[in-house]
Amino acid sequence: MNIQPNYSSLDFPGKMALVLFTPGCDLRCKYCHNPQLIKNEHLSRWDVEEIEEEIDNNIDFIDAIVLSGGEPLLHVDVIKGFIAKAKQNNLLVKLDTNGLHPDKLTEVLDDIDYVAMDIKAPLDKYYKISDVYPSNVSELINQSINLIMDSGIFLECRTTYVPDLLVPEDIVEITRNLNCDMYTLQQFRNRVTLDSGLSSVDEPNPEDLVRIIESLDVSIPEIHLKSNQFGNQTIIRNMD
Ligand code: SF4
Repeated sequence: MNIQPNYSSLDFPGKMALVLFTPGCDLRCKYCHNPQLIKNEHLSRWDVEEIEEEIDNNIDFIDAIVLSGGEPLLHVDVIKGFIAKAKQNNLLVKLDTNGLHPDKLTEVLDDIDYVAMDIKAPLDKYYKISDVYPSNVSELINQSINLIMDSGIFLECRTTYVPDLLVPEDIVEITRNLNCDMYTLQQFRNRVTLDSGLSSVDEPNPEDLVRIIESLDVSIPEIHLKSNQFGNQTIIRNMD
């Protein structure tokens, strides 16, 4: 099957979700944990039928579907079918995206309940993370953010912190004036990486990541840290 299904109570906070990992991506993040997915972009009608059956068979056990990848918006026509099926069955829908497809985002946004969007690096420094990226990253990401925030849909922005690729000042720059409901700094994991050289890079110490978060001067309502040691922690909650 070219779409990998998985069950998780962590991907959609507070909900049991069927997570669908779709193949293909237009970035090549050096730390990518799903290298087997991004190199294969092919989807057949058998893949789609198998996933529809997976949803049908587990409808009583799940609250939500999560469209993840890879980059799900590369298969916008396919995921529209999954979204329609989810909505017919009163399931919530979360979309994980790299934020580079605002045109496709508009086609599905009305039926999405939660978007988690990656901000890989300061928008003029994507070269730090991926050898391949569009020249207008900044424009695309800002368009996506504006579409989501204008729609009122919950937006989580998130960055994976890889010590060899980013420095604390990059996180300051990413979050400065960032318009979203929640920001999550994710600890880099060195188990499986697209660039095999990163497998020998130490995972960052969660306490160092807490210090980075505490140094931020931002008005984002919530800032979280996701680490192997402590799971998902709220570090800053800005209440009006
Ligand atoms: S980490 Fe995500 S955005 Fe980056 S290459 Fe992998 S699937 Fe694509």
